[in-house]
Amino acid sequence: MKEISVLLPTPAYSGLTGPLSYQHTQDLAPGTLVRVPLGQRESLGLVWHALAPDHSDHAPDKPRVLRPVTEVLDGLPPLSAHWLQLVAFAAHYYQRALGEFALACLPPQLREVSQAQLARKLKKRGQPKDTPGQASPSPPTLTPEQAQVLDRLDQQTGPYVLHGNTGSGKTEVYLRRAAEVLARDPSAQVLMLVPEINLTPQLEERVRQRFAALGQETIVSMHSGMTPAQRLNSWLSAHTGQARLVLGTRMAVLASIPHLRLIVVDEEHDPSYKQQEGARYSARDLAVYRGQCEGAQVILGSATPSLESWHHSRAAVAGEPAPRYQRLNMPSRVGDAVLPKLRRVDMNLQPRQTLVSAPLLAAMRERLARQEQVMLLLNRRGYAPVLHCASCGWKSECPHCSAFRVFHKADRTLRCHHCSLTQAVPRACPGCGNQDIGSFGHGTERLEEHLAELLADMHRPDGAPMRIARIDADSTRLKGELVRQLAQVHDGDVDVLVGTQMVAKGHDFRRVTLVAALNPDGALFSADFRAPERLFALLMQAAGRAGRDAAMAREQPCEMWVQTFHPAHPLFETLKQHDFAAFAEQQLSEREQAGLPPFSFQALVRAEARSQAAAQDFLNAARSAGEAWLAEAGMSVTVYPAVPMSMQRVANVERAQMLIESGSRRALQHFLQSWQPALQDARSHHKAVLRWAIDVDPLAI
Ligand code: ADP
Ligand code: ZN
Ligand code: ZN
Repeated sequence: MKEISVLLPTPAYSGLTGPLSYQHTQDLAPGTLVRVPLGQRESLGLVWHALAPDHSDHAPDKPRVLRPVTEVLDGLPPLSAHWLQLVAFAAHYYQRALGEFALACLPPQLREVSQAQLARKLKKRGQPKDTPGQASPSPPTLTPEQAQVLDRLDQQTGPYVLHGNTGSGKTEVYLRRAAEVLARDPSAQVLMLVPEINLTPQLEERVRQRFAALGQETIVSMHSGMTPAQRLNSWLSAHTGQARLVLGTRMAVLASIPHLRLIVVDEEHDPSYKQQEGARYSARDLAVYRGQCEGAQVILGSATPSLESWHHSRAAVAGEPAPRYQRLNMPSRVGDAVLPKLRRVDMNLQPRQTLVSAPLLAAMRERLARQEQVMLLLNRRGYAPVLHCASCGWKSECPHCSAFRVFHKADRTLRCHHCSLTQAVPRACPGCGNQDIGSFGHGTERLEEHLAELLADMHRPDGAPMRIARIDADSTRLKGELVRQLAQVHDGDVDVLVGTQMVAKGHDFRRVTLVAALNPDGALFSADFRAPERLFALLMQAAGRAGRDAAMAREQPCEMWVQTFHPAHPLFETLKQHDFAAFAEQQLSEREQAGLPPFSFQALVRAEARSQAAAQDFLNAARSAGEAWLAEAGMSVTVYPAVPMSMQRVANVERAQMLIESGSRRALQHFLQSWQPALQDARSHHKAVLRWAIDVDPLAI
């Protein structure tokens, strides 16, 4: 009998964080999937090292009685050493229990299927499809910038930051590079990561068309919207090498792709690459690690790269190490499409409570009269963010959260966007019975209604009223609704598109010639130091929706409008020049002075409890232990006192957080690792704490 060391999905608090030992009639290669008994249950496990690394806790004179492995999923090739290294790194870096993390990277259905079912699935896919691939459409002639970039990509593996304007042809570069890599090596596989697949159905279509010759079964998607069976199928395709191209959201970075040669991270700045629960990993950062470890090329593409990636690709300053990433630039738009001009409306000069200012409305009407499309951004869904009684001061607070319930007029409800509490709008003020309750502020629903009034006198060529469409999380709740609505915009069935930031991403609306951000000021003075970066990216991406049709844009220059109380703010100045580089340099110098990322490294510990004091007590107890350890180790890591989170209470749970910061990533990592037991221990003494979690490299503070 051989001793086999197996990773199991045991959480950190169970204390069983390492692999457990089992026995089997023969050795099993690391990466083999097995089923083993765990307590009273049976669990999927992953063979780790051939032998358990540590026998020291065991008296040598007492022979161990190991439980046998129940089943070996030997129809599946073992997971590769590179994949094992990736999950080991990620679990360690993001402070997760190794077994729990590694098994969570596998498709959930793998836990349930029997060996026989799996064998059937594999056999089915083993048979060559008799539908031969169709001919792909011939790709366009490259622009000089694209050609130059592809040349560079052919020289070294990178990682590369591809800084290309919206509409500069980045996607074309990804497709070409992928085609080259796939053609060069018949087993090569390519991973393309996108922020949210549902938002960009066009991209998937484009990829499928371009690689139609490979056969549709060689292109697979991976995202959370798929059924468990679909996910297992995609995963098996990638794992067995049948899939040559994997197109997926952040979870796909952890898929088994044994012959990975190229990873593209499209819109690499997008916050959705950061997982926000469980293991809070950054798919972009893991892509870079994975590329380096497997020798795959990595391309991080964006018109507005994250300041982290920008910083890592800055030209080396004398005395500093060479940049970690190489930067490639594509400043021009394909076909000389011009970038839209920025117009600022000084809202100090407009009547109070103006939603759509007179100059903006006039410009919109001009565009609409020429049958061009207009897109308006308002980052707030619902009708009005607050209901309010003027006579007693009652406001529509959520009883369970530190937030107001939002008024939704369509179904006359008050809804909390944090805990989802939904109630009918009261007929009279719950405080004083006043029948005249007013609403404060504007949401997309109200904007839609308001626009219908403002444009009531205008008509489409066929005499019908102007079509106003709204795209936000409410209007797209039903499956397929978003795709349907986007198609309407494309087909020109919509004149004015109203939406939250959802509409600013990635779509190719050719007839949009005017984009306006109605109320972007909130981010200018936010407590979150990343807010300006996100706003700049949002506005730049939104502006990029305009003027995609070069011929149309030459006749009629496109415009990006911003309504603001701070028209002279430097952010708008750099936006006006479409100068991301200037914006980035200015932000980076501020961050450097303030010692903020990427010049320092952060982690957050968050805790939830029934009372704020309980959450903070737990954190502060852990802090004391941490500080004692740091003093002894002489390590420079700062642990700040616990504070309430900005959304302090959600669904009657109080939330607190504690920031940990260091100038050295290694010191921070070393500290977090050593501190974990103290956190576990503090947790056992603070029973009122419901949950706690570590977020390494947090995006929102
Ligand atoms: P990005 O990803 O940078 O926004 P895309 O790759 O989507 O840019 O290109 C923008 C538009 O230009 C798309 O409609 C695309 O089909 C087209 N395009 C890209 N490269 C070329 C080219 N070399 N010649 C002609 N059209 C191109
Ligand atoms: Zn009242
Ligand atoms: Zn609530």
